[in-house]
Amino acid sequence: MIYFTPGPSQLYPTVKQHITQALEDGIPSLSHRNAAFHDIVKQTYDDLRMLLNIPSDYHIFFVSSGTEAMERIIENCVDERSIHFVNGAFSKRFYDTAKELRKRPEIIRVEPGQSFDFESLYSKTELSFPWTGESRRLQMHESATRSGMTEEAELICFTHNETSTGVAIDLDEVYKIKKQRPMNLIALDIVSSAPYVSVDYSKLDCVFFSVQKGFGLPAGLGIIIISPRAMEKAQKRKANGKAVGSYHSFPAMLEQAQKYQTVETPNVLAIYLLNKVLKDMLEKGIDTIRKETERKATLLYNFFDNHKTMKPFVTDKKNRSNTVIVINTPQGSKEIITQLKKNGSTVGAGYGDYKQTSIRIANFPAHSMGDINQLLSQFKVILASEAEMK
Ligand SMILES: *Cc1c(COP(=O)(O)O)cnc(C)c1O
Repeated sequence: MIYFTPGPSQLYPTVKQHITQALEDGIPSLSHRNAAFHDIVKQTYDDLRMLLNIPSDYHIFFVSSGTEAMERIIENCVDERSIHFVNGAFSKRFYDTAKELRKRPEIIRVEPGQSFDFESLYSKTELSFPWTGESRRLQMHESATRSGMTEEAELICFTHNETSTGVAIDLDEVYKIKKQRPMNLIALDIVSSAPYVSVDYSKLDCVFFSVQKGFGLPAGLGIIIISPRAMEKAQKRKANGKAVGSYHSFPAMLEQAQKYQTVETPNVLAIYLLNKVLKDMLEKGIDTIRKETERKATLLYNFFDNHKTMKPFVTDKKNRSNTVIVINTPQGSKEIITQLKKNGSTVGAGYGDYKQTSIRIANFPAHSMGDINQLLSQFKVILASEAEMK
């Protein structure tokens, strides 16, 4: 069976061999206070920095998941106000997290399948304030410091790749906002686009992902990458008596990370496996991984753009994700998913309200060109026999 589900997904081809090796080497029994573990952590940091081009003064922390990363970022960086760009279920989760932590988040929302109208963002976007019911326009054409967002917001949150709808936002637009609003911290969710997405970390403050998507690993490990400014903010808030959380507060994680340790007993096996897959990816080369991802995405989108009924959910080509491809299924998703399974391929159902009306196909580094070609020939056979039956 090949898993094209958008996470957990197909394991990276070398994972089985790395797990066998880990068991032979006693990795799951290794104490996290042992020097051998510190070496694994150090190599993982070094390899992450090299593969993803993370600046040396940025901090890297291990948490349990992408969802936990959202909570830690809000908890550590926000006194009151965060702003959330919401275009689907995962960006909405980030916003809900802020509400649940009793912050006063603002929301900039577009319909599922859309990206944001960054061009006219400042003149047209209505900011809504759910806790008072009021809404007003962003005033970004005024001086940056007088604008609505700037006075109040401390953190602006973006989801690069909205896994629920298959929309990827243009990071240049995010960098532009950072330039206009240098006083704000910027958070970016790259859970379902790492390591494919090329990120300029120097223009961002909190970036996070988990390993069960693009890294092709078992779930249970998240990574947060933090700028010195975000770290400073958490430390200041802590010094001022504000709640920053307990064992996974940024200051608590930093203290241990500097010694290549972790606060709690971590998922040592997961960190070990991440390190092994990072080395495999470094050997293959990130440019090759990116080019292959784009070639596979083009194959998938071309096939469905040319199909009569099963069209890509995201109509505007410039907003289409290269790592999570969402396809409309006017005939219902269930039968197609069942047929593909019989042929040895598992694709994801649509997310939430779109469960029946779409399917989602992951295009991660673990999926080879051959896998994608095979999936497409299965589609051809299934769709041809469906057409015959009509
Ligand atoms: C899967 C996903 C998450 C949640 O990550 P977990 O590791 O499952 O908690 C967050 N954001 C996006 C965009 C995702 O695809």
